[in-house]
Amino acid sequence: MSISLLQGSFIIAGLLFILALAGLSKHETSRRGNVLGAIGMALALVFTIFGTVLGTGTGALDQAAPRWAVAVIIAAMAIGGAFGVFKALRVEMTGMPQLIALLHSFVGLTAVLVGWNSYLEPGHSDKLHYGELFVGVFIGAVTFTGSIIAYLKLSAKMKSAPLMLPKHNLWNLAGLVLFAGLTVAFVLLPESQHVGQGGALGLILLSALTLVALLLGLHLVASIGGGDMPVVVSMLNSYSGWAAAAAGFTLDNDLLIITGALVGSSGAYLSYIMCKAMNRSFISVIAGGFGSDGGVVGEAKDLGEHRETSAPEVAELLKAASSVVITPGYGMAVAQAQGPVADLTSKLRALGVEVRFGIHPVAGRLPGHMNVLLAEAKVPYDIVLEMDEINDDFESTDVVLVIGANDTVNPAALEDPTSPIAGMPVLEVWKAAQVIVFKRSMNTGYAGVQNPLFFKENTAMLFGDAKERVEDIIRAL
Ligand code: NDP
Repeated sequence: MSISLLQGSFIIAGLLFILALAGLSKHETSRRGNVLGAIGMALALVFTIFGTVLGTGTGALDQAAPRWAVAVIIAAMAIGGAFGVFKALRVEMTGMPQLIALLHSFVGLTAVLVGWNSYLEPGHSDKLHYGELFVGVFIGAVTFTGSIIAYLKLSAKMKSAPLMLPKHNLWNLAGLVLFAGLTVAFVLLPESQHVGQGGALGLILLSALTLVALLLGLHLVASIGGGDMPVVVSMLNSYSGWAAAAAGFTLDNDLLIITGALVGSSGAYLSYIMCKAMNRSFISVIAGGFGSDGGVVGEAKDLGEHRETSAPEVAELLKAASSVVITPGYGMAVAQAQGPVADLTSKLRALGVEVRFGIHPVAGRLPGHMNVLLAEAKVPYDIVLEMDEINDDFESTDVVLVIGANDTVNPAALEDPTSPIAGMPVLEVWKAAQVIVFKRSMNTGYAGVQNPLFFKENTAMLFGDAKERVEDIIRAL
C-alpha cells in the first residue's frame, strides 16, 4: 500500500473525528456526530490493518507482516469484536458507566503492553524512544488500575466511600516523584544496561515503574469519594486518550497520536466542566474524600417526619398547576421511566400546563445521561434546560416532579456547611410551591448523604418504581 494513500486516509479519519466531536456538542447534531465518528474509526481500522498486512515503507508499518502475525491480528480482532458486540447488546443504559470504565481500562492495558513490547523488541535504542515508551507505560498503568477501581465503584461491587489512608496525598506525591526519578534514570541509562544489549537494569527500572503506576492508579481512584465520581469518569476518559497518544508515539502511528490527543483534551475539558458544575477544583478532587467525611453518610439522621402522597392526588395537583418542572435523576434511568415521563409531558402540555425539565450536570451516572434518555423518549429539546437556566424559575413554579433524583436536589449542599457535599450547586426545587419526590424508599443517593428535601413541608413522597408511578398518574389524568 502506498504511504500517501495511508496518510490520506489517516487525515480524513482525523477530520471525521474532529467533526464527530463538534456534532456531539449539541443535541440536534449528536446522531450525525456519532455516525461521522464511526465512519472515521472504520476507515482508521481498515487502513491500519491493510497497512500492517501489506507494508508501507515507513515507520512501524514499514514491512509486510508475516502470515502468522496476520492470522494473530485477525483472531484477536474476532475475539475482541465478538466480546464488544456481546457486551454492547446486553448492556442496560444504567450499566453504561461501568462498561465505559472497563473499556478505559483496556486502553490503559494496551498502552502498557505496547510499551513493554516496544522495549523488548530489538531495533529501538534512541533516548527519545525510551522516554516515550516509559511515559506511555506510566499513563497506561495508572489508567488501567484506576479504571478497574472506577468500574468496581460504579457497579457497586465496591463501596463508593473513599479509602482514606493516613497521609494519603503524600502517597500520590511519592508516586509522581518516583515516576519522575525512574524516567530520568531510564533515559540516562547507558545503552549496555538496556535489554537490547543484554543488560538487566533497564528491565528492572521498567518493572518498578509499572508497579508504581499500577499502585498509583489504584490508590488515586480508591481515595476519591462517591461525590466526585463524575469527575473521575471524565478524568479516566482523558487519561485513556493520553495513553493511546503515547502508544501512538511508541508505534510511530500518526492517527493514534491525533485520536489520543483528541480524546485526551476533550476528556480534560469535560473534567473541567464537571469540576465547575460541582464547584470543585481538580486538585481537591484528586485529594479525595468528597461525599464522605461529614459523618452522616449512610446514617439515618433525625430530620423529622416525611409526608406521603398517591398517584391520583398528584394527578389532581398537576391538573390545577399552570407551571411544572421535572427534574430527573439516576432513578429515572433505573426505572426506564423516560417513555412514560415523555407521555406525561405531552398530556400536561395538551391540558395547557407549561412543562419544562431541569437537568443537573451530574444527574445520572454519565455526563449527559438524562439528556440522552429524554432525547430517546423524544422530549422536545427546547423544554430541556440546564441547571443554571432553570434555578431562578423554581420560585414561580407550581409543582416540581423529582423523578429518581436525590443528590442533585439536596438542599444540604447549600444550607449545611458540614455536609459532605457542601458547596455543590444543586437544583433548588424546594423553592417551588409543591415538590413531589418519586423514589422507592427513604434511602440516600449515590453520595450516601441524607436529603432534608424529603422532610420539607411542601414536599410529598410518592413511593414505588418511578415508571409505574408515572403510568398511574397518566391513567388518573
Ligand atoms: P442519586 O444517585 O443521588 O439518587 C438516585 C435515586 O433514585 C435514589 O435515591 C433511589 O432511591 C432512586 N431510585 C432508584 N431506582 C429507582 C426506581 N426504580 N424508581 C424510583 N426511584 C428510584 O441520583 P442523582 O441523579 O440525583 O445524582 C447522581 C449522583 O451520581 C451524584 O452523586 C453524582 O455525583 C453521581 N455520579 C454521577 C456521574 C455522572 O457523570 N453524572 C458519574 C458517577 C457518579 P430509592 O433507592 O429509594 O428508590
